[in-house]
Amino acid sequence: MRYAEVLIDLPLQVQDTIFTYHIPPALTGQVEIGRRVLVPLGRRKVEGLIIEADAAPWPDSQPLLKVLDEAAVVDHTALSLARWMAEYYCCSLYTAIKVMIPRRLSKKTGRTVIPLVTEGDLNELAGIEGEPYLLEFMLELQESGECSYKKARELLSEDELLKLEDQGLIHCGGSYRGYRAVKHSGHYVIAQFDPLTDGLTLQKRAPRQAEAMALMAAEGRAEKGWLEQRIPADSIKALLAKGFIKLEQKIQETILPAYSLSRDQARVYQAVEMALDGQAMAEYLIYGITGSGKTEVYIRTVESALRRGKSALVLIPEIALTRHLVEIFSERIPDLAVIHSRMTPGERHEAWKDIRSGEVKLVLGTRSAVFAPLSDLGLIIIDEEQEHSYKQQEQPRYHAREVARQRAMQHSAVLLLGSATPSFESFNEALKGRVGLLKMPERVGTAALPEVFIADMRKGKAGAISDILRDKVSQMLSRGEQTILFQNRRGFSPLTICLDCGHIPGCPHCSVALTYHRDPEREICHYCNYQTRVLTACPECGGHKLQHMGAGTQKVEAEVRELFPQARVARLDLDSSQRKDAQPRILAGMKNGDIDILIGTQMVARGLDFPGVSLVGIMDVDNMLNLPDLRAAERCLQLIVQAAGRAGRRDKGGEVVIQTFNLEHPVVQMAQRQDYESFFREEIRGRQLLNYPPFTHLLRIVLVGEGEDAVRRSAERVGREIFELGDAKEDEFVILGPAPCPLYYIKNRFRYQLIVKCDNILLLSSIGKAILTRGSRSGIKFQVEMDPLTSM
Ligand SMILES: [Zn+2]
Ligand SMILES: [Zn+2]
Repeated sequence: MRYAEVLIDLPLQVQDTIFTYHIPPALTGQVEIGRRVLVPLGRRKVEGLIIEADAAPWPDSQPLLKVLDEAAVVDHTALSLARWMAEYYCCSLYTAIKVMIPRRLSKKTGRTVIPLVTEGDLNELAGIEGEPYLLEFMLELQESGECSYKKARELLSEDELLKLEDQGLIHCGGSYRGYRAVKHSGHYVIAQFDPLTDGLTLQKRAPRQAEAMALMAAEGRAEKGWLEQRIPADSIKALLAKGFIKLEQKIQETILPAYSLSRDQARVYQAVEMALDGQAMAEYLIYGITGSGKTEVYIRTVESALRRGKSALVLIPEIALTRHLVEIFSERIPDLAVIHSRMTPGERHEAWKDIRSGEVKLVLGTRSAVFAPLSDLGLIIIDEEQEHSYKQQEQPRYHAREVARQRAMQHSAVLLLGSATPSFESFNEALKGRVGLLKMPERVGTAALPEVFIADMRKGKAGAISDILRDKVSQMLSRGEQTILFQNRRGFSPLTICLDCGHIPGCPHCSVALTYHRDPEREICHYCNYQTRVLTACPECGGHKLQHMGAGTQKVEAEVRELFPQARVARLDLDSSQRKDAQPRILAGMKNGDIDILIGTQMVARGLDFPGVSLVGIMDVDNMLNLPDLRAAERCLQLIVQAAGRAGRRDKGGEVVIQTFNLEHPVVQMAQRQDYESFFREEIRGRQLLNYPPFTHLLRIVLVGEGEDAVRRSAERVGREIFELGDAKEDEFVILGPAPCPLYYIKNRFRYQLIVKCDNILLLSSIGKAILTRGSRSGIKFQVEMDPLTSM
């Protein structure tokens, strides 16, 4: 009898559940690491994944019930990546695996529905009580053993099936059949082969293989299809396995663009070429100012990796940018797949399938694309690597850059991080020499860096637009050039204050002020979306002198329309982009010159290239600087530099106006000089002094619950437990807190946090896992996050 180790899918579990099952003779041929199976667990059946196909015997083991897939869903490399993730990010192995594979692994037509409970248990299930038709469906399913998804859909809605699936009553995943790799045209070439010694051995033992070598001897290569017609597939396989020959896949001839590379671009390209030749893991930070032509370097290096028969992965921070980049890339590299979070499960499955089969060699996408099942990965590019969107905010709380680094190591691939304002982590590594630093300090062509003006908001009226900015906007209008106004807050006014008693009306469910919105007129909580009619009297003192304070995008828009009634104005933020097609329409309007002034949140700051923009106004840096967060200054300067980078991208030098009350603030000073590097050197000293990242690791533990006392007491207990867990190693770590989170009451729940500082990552993750395992007491939720990017 043979045995298999199966990782059981138990959601909400922190610990991995692994059991040994015996393999019934009928299933022997189907058992393989990485396939999903159905196994008995207590009186239930659950899904699991085979992680060992040849396990040690286990007395009294139960049998595997069914092998769900016809091919492995995850391969060895993916499995070891998942193991690393589970360890590093304190999650279960199954959680890590699930983020790598599409939720649906087959088309709807290929799916089957299998009951997971026995008949006796059905009646006891609370979940479907009072819903007799669901119970009836389950009983029928019990009787037939399984049915097609199509048939199930005739009886129940998709939502109802999902509900049963979520309750663990049915399994409706399809079977993964595996996909035959597409036959690329290409050549077999002789690799390491000595005609004398190796040739002689082959002639004696494997005449067909010797024949193949003879056929290739003259030119050192043979066309793939030609050789396959003459030599049996097994013999070719054997030669490949021995390393005597290798397959060189023919990649479509690349279409070279009309213009040549700048000096900076050429230098960076050369360095990456050499790294690709090196065939060892190599990492580079491309520190290139906005407009230095990083995108062209990305395309050339991707082409170069593909020419070598390798695959490539390009990550970008935001969906809004995908369309733009896909257009640029697909002009030169036609076969690419796109992965982003707004795809339907069906689309995701299709893309995954094409990648897994080797049909596409280039994947472009947002965070989760880092798991694209490309084999033979040669190059990974992460554009705007400092962006926080690369960090997932729910379990597994991974950072795509860290995952990419692991994958690059697995494949001996080249990892390129690109940024005009690198994260402190990456910049520090580069300056220390652990990561190659490639600078691109000049803009492509004749474009100059924009000239930066500081507007002192202490002078002048209470409006959102300073005199200097107003003058510059009207200059642009008269010259027919475009302006972008960047305001990091949406709505009209971020808070309302009673001038009689000083009260600031807040959300009843959260510890935050309500934002005043127009169109429609409302007070809205930006954290829980609580909405109320606009207050006419102070809820505290009944006074009527309520004043809206500060500016959001809507207020900037209103002032702009009043000052420049003739201008064509558009606003791009979370509210305006909710309207269908608003975003593409506005972006097209900017491109075509149909918009004079664009107002927006950080959606307008990133990566978009509008040649007609000559002026960028940064409306309010102070609110970004004043966040009680470790990375507030870093984040603020990154946003300013990015936004400023929108100005004057072609031949004209642009202008930037920064409005602030804090003229002396180092961030404002550095922003004026556009000097990110000096800012970094200044700021990093403070981090080192206080021993903060990138000099150490942080583990953030957040406790969330309804009763404040209970949450606080729990947090205190966790603090004590960490000391116990750390035991003899307590001089290796520091615990900050417990303390209320800056956002301490959100959606009717109190939030407390502890932050553990420690440079021993193994110790830190073991603490995290232990806390999670002991956690979940009396309605209090635990969130454990390694390397958090915010502490709000
Ligand atoms: Zn009042
Ligand atoms: Zn709220």
